[in-house]
Amino acid sequence: MSLFWGGLSQNNYNENYKHMKLRIIIIGLLLMGSQQLYSQENYLAAPKLDSIKKTYLGGAKYEVKTFTQKFKTKKPKNVIMMIGDGMGVAHIYAGLTANGGHLFLDNFKQVGFSKTQSSDNYITDSGAGGTALSTGQKTYNGAIGVNADTTAIKTILEMAEEKGMATGLIATTAITHATPASYISHQKSRESYEAIASDFLKTDIDVFIGGGYKHFTQRADKRDLTKDLQKKGFQVLRNMDEIYNVKSGKLAGLTAEEQNNLIPNREMSLPLSTQTALNILDKNKKGFFIMIEGSEIDWGAHANNTIYVVNEMLDFDQAIGKALEFASKDGETLIIVTADHETGGFALVDGDMKTGMVKGAFSTDHHTGVMVPVFAYGPGAEKFIGIMENTDIPKKIMKLMGF
Ligand SMILES: [Zn+2]
Repeated sequence: MSLFWGGLSQNNYNENYKHMKLRIIIIGLLLMGSQQLYSQENYLAAPKLDSIKKTYLGGAKYEVKTFTQKFKTKKPKNVIMMIGDGMGVAHIYAGLTANGGHLFLDNFKQVGFSKTQSSDNYITDSGAGGTALSTGQKTYNGAIGVNADTTAIKTILEMAEEKGMATGLIATTAITHATPASYISHQKSRESYEAIASDFLKTDIDVFIGGGYKHFTQRADKRDLTKDLQKKGFQVLRNMDEIYNVKSGKLAGLTAEEQNNLIPNREMSLPLSTQTALNILDKNKKGFFIMIEGSEIDWGAHANNTIYVVNEMLDFDQAIGKALEFASKDGETLIIVTADHETGGFALVDGDMKTGMVKGAFSTDHHTGVMVPVFAYGPGAEKFIGIMENTDIPKKIMKLMGF
């Protein structure tokens, strides 16, 4: 994987690498004086580039397989919920163009749209967006698993645990970051990272893979939560090869101190993490629920950087490919792919399906209020067509699962 991505991105990266480094330093200095900005979103890790970087020049492509549309049952036993953070239609189409006209997403025949507004804002953040998708309730921006009155609300992952199902979370950012946190934690503020890490111990989650090691280990209360995780039977691992070799049991894969790097500098592989988690969770006879986030599509768009958007989009799509591989064989697994909101007001102003070149244009460096797509594959997929509220997505899943 790392070789593959290295090859894919080199041509786009080398020329401006020195400038990027300089900018990272400058941005870093600016951030020291603007903690508020940093704590709100971590996207500034992606340097904002000049107009020339709004064009992805093309790179390595992967083959997209076609999977069966025949399933064993009418209702799903397992649910794989996949969230491309900030992923609007243009982000998907940028990835599709870059990969020569096809994505694994082509396999999804049931498509709808989700309205993303939060309870207090036309433009949602990832906390309110994640909570809407995890609980079926609208809440205020910044909320994690709590409603507009800050009362804790049960998440779909917690409901699955009550039914004896196996559960999992994967993110390319910190596992304590807003989207994954919304499925497992109940906090008034998305910035309470250490409290969010503590909430992992209050659940029966089986597998989680992502960054955020320091929120478990370098804490104000001096506790080392990785020791508590081990006491609960978790294999706490930091090395990627070790993580991808786990076949059963409980797994806490903490792949970075905080967020994982953006591609091409990322060690963690979202497709391999997906494959690993599905193999472990599938051992539970009662089924499983997992949420897998392509977290950093959002960051590329915040940085108005088409190259980052494309790289992260293709990584997420290959994770979707792993999910499809599993679900098509299994025949009882529902996959939902959606986004929490659109980021960047992203548009495509030129492209070439042959070379994979794609030129982006951005109307903002923040989130926007437009609808985002919903893709469904597997038993029950037909329930997810048309225009719906983001909160309808988990409600439909809960109904299908009998929660
Ligand atoms: Zn988001």
